[in-house]
Amino acid sequence: MATIRSNKKIAPDIFQLEISAPLIADKFKAGQFVVVRPLSESERIPLTIMRGDQEKGTIFLVVKAVGLSTKELCGLPEGAEICDLLGPLGQPSEIDQFGTVVIVGGGVGSAVAFAVAEALKDAGNKIITISGARNKEFVILEKEFSEISDELIITTDDGSYGKNGFVTDALRSLYEEGRKINRVIAAGPVPMMKLIAEITKLHQTPTVASLNPVMVDGIGMCGGCRVLVGGEIRFAGVDGPESNAHLVNFDSLMRRNTAYREIEQRKEHECKLDAAIREEETDE
Ligand code: NAD
Repeated sequence: MATIRSNKKIAPDIFQLEISAPLIADKFKAGQFVVVRPLSESERIPLTIMRGDQEKGTIFLVVKAVGLSTKELCGLPEGAEICDLLGPLGQPSEIDQFGTVVIVGGGVGSAVAFAVAEALKDAGNKIITISGARNKEFVILEKEFSEISDELIITTDDGSYGKNGFVTDALRSLYEEGRKINRVIAAGPVPMMKLIAEITKLHQTPTVASLNPVMVDGIGMCGGCRVLVGGEIRFAGVDGPESNAHLVNFDSLMRRNTAYREIEQRKEHECKLDAAIREEETDE
């Protein structure tokens, strides 16, 4: 049974959870995720693993409490048992010696990119991290990124800390300075990843985006995580979550991700995909 080892608020509504899960910690590779069901009545939440500690048998997750189930997860105290924890799921990130890799994390997406940044650093790459937040209060993992980055650029939308502007402005500046960039990894809001892909396409820099579609089972069976990549259907839960950012149809991803936003906030909300799965099970 997975239990909460620690639960720390690291920014408004953002929590870092350390969870005892020895088997997952042992098998986890950078880029993979878990599906968490905090309580028996909660929805399943897909969350990319920020870090694994094999010795302690724990994994770290960074969670923004936005919907009912993420609030339930973030409300669990130290020692509490988690109803279900499934993983590690998805394909690990491609880790190789690329040269200079720019890691771009937007908001909680920074936590998603952290494990990949750490693995790429260990593989001998030069890591330039751009981590963006709305304002100073929302800056996360600065210390952790400073330990694994050759260069760390923090941006805030209002200029209250670090560079003023979006992460995309900081990326453009690097190109304007004539920096040689061999690869870009992006994780964060979909409009941010779309813009990153547009910028890096101009410079022909291979770019990977960590996609965050709606997911239910996390293994591609329900079809919720369907994304269009190069005009073909892929399932982010099994083929991803990472994908070639230059081929992703971000507009379609945006439409699918906002389809249930309003009802997700409601107490009486029942996930339609969950209901559909149950219906299918009853029919069989
Ligand atoms: P946010 O809305 O506060 O944005 C964080 C930063 O992203 C901003 O400071 C800015 O630098 C950049 N950004 C945002 N919109 C942009 C735009 N239109 N153009 C250029 N840059 C932009 O982020 P948040 O509230 O922490 O939300 C994080 C988002 O990341 C959520 O939408 C969530 O669904 C998504 N997410 C993605 C992953 C993933 O795997 N990619 C994982 C978890 C969360």
